[in-house]
Amino acid sequence: MGIKVFIAQPRGFCAGVTRAIDAVTASIEKFGAPVYVRKQLVHNNSVIDALSASGAIFVDEIDHLPEGATVILSAHGVGPEVYENARRRRLNVIDATCPLVTKVHIEAARYAREGRPIVIVGHREHEEVIGTLGYASADTSVVADIAAVEQLELPAGAAPAVITQTTLAVDDTRDTIEALRRRFPAVITPAHDDICYATQNRQAAVRELARSAELILVIGAANSSNSNRLREVAQAAGVRAYLIADLSELQTEWLDGVGIVGVTAGASTPEHLVAEVVSYLRSHHDASVEAIEVTRENVTFSPPAPVTRFKRSRPTKAVAKQSASGVPAEVTVNAAVAEEGVLDG
Ligand code: SF4
Repeated sequence: MGIKVFIAQPRGFCAGVTRAIDAVTASIEKFGAPVYVRKQLVHNNSVIDALSASGAIFVDEIDHLPEGATVILSAHGVGPEVYENARRRRLNVIDATCPLVTKVHIEAARYAREGRPIVIVGHREHEEVIGTLGYASADTSVVADIAAVEQLELPAGAAPAVITQTTLAVDDTRDTIEALRRRFPAVITPAHDDICYATQNRQAAVRELARSAELILVIGAANSSNSNRLREVAQAAGVRAYLIADLSELQTEWLDGVGIVGVTAGASTPEHLVAEVVSYLRSHHDASVEAIEVTRENVTFSPPAPVTRFKRSRPTKAVAKQSASGVPAEVTVNAAVAEEGVLDG
C-alpha cells in the first residue's frame, strides 16, 4: 500500500515574491537585458537561476553599475542610503520591496521621529532587518528571542516601541513580545501584527499538517527565513521535519516506515519544486495526494513604478481580513504614493 501525502494550502509564492519576480521580467522586457538586481531578489536559487538565464545580473551592491542602468531592489527592502546611492549614480530604480516590508519601514521611521527607543524582533543578519534598521534610530536594538530580551540594556521604565520582521514564527514572536512586556510594561507593540499574512497562513497550514503527518517536508532555501520557520513550527508540533531546497536533497531513508507525509513550501519557493517532490512520492511510494487547505489567499500587489526621484514609496492602505480560522486571508495594498525622503516615480 502506498503512502498518503497531505499538501499544504496555501504554500509557496506570496504576493510580494510574485510582484518582485514580475518586476524583473517586466523590466527586462521594457528596458532590455541586462537589468541588474541588488542582492538575492528572493531567497531561492531556482528563481535566481531562471532570472539570470533571462538576462538579470545579480549584484551585491550597486556601486559599480554603469550610469543609467536599471536596477531592481529586492523584496526584502533596503535602507534610505541605498536609494540615495542610486540617485547619486543616476540609476533607473525599480523598487520591488514588498509593500508589507515598506509598512514596517514606515513604522520604524515614525518611532524614530518621535524619539522613542525601538526594539526590532528579528534576525540582525537578515536583509530585511538590515534595511529596516536604516529607518530606525541609531540606538535601535534587535532581539531574536526571549534570552536576548533579558540582555537588553535599556533604562528601567523605558517605553520602547516594538516592530518585528515580517517572516518570524508567530508563536515565538508572541512569547518574545510577552517577555518585552514583562521587562518594560510601558512597551508599545504593533496595533497589527508585522508578521505578514503569507507567513501566518503558511504556518497555520503546516500546523494543520502536523496534526496527522508523521514526517513533514518543507521545500525552500536554507537562507529563507519563512521556510526555516515552517520547519521549526512543524518540529515544535512534535513532527519530524526537514527543510530541503529541492528533490535532490530528499533522503529516501526519511520515508522508511512513514505512512503520512506532509509537504509544504516557503513563500519564495516556485511550485515546480513542490511538483517534483510530489511526483517522486507518487512514482516511488505510490502516494495518494490530498490538499489540506486552511485558508484561500486572494492577495495581489500593484507592480512597482520606476523610481526616478528621491522620495519614498509607501502603501496607502494595508488591510488584513481575517478568515474563519483567524488567519489573515486577504490583504489589500493600494498603489504606492510618494512621501518626502525616499524615492518614487
Ligand atoms: Fe511580503 Fe510576506 Fe512575501 Fe515577505 S513573505 S515578500 S513580507 S508577503
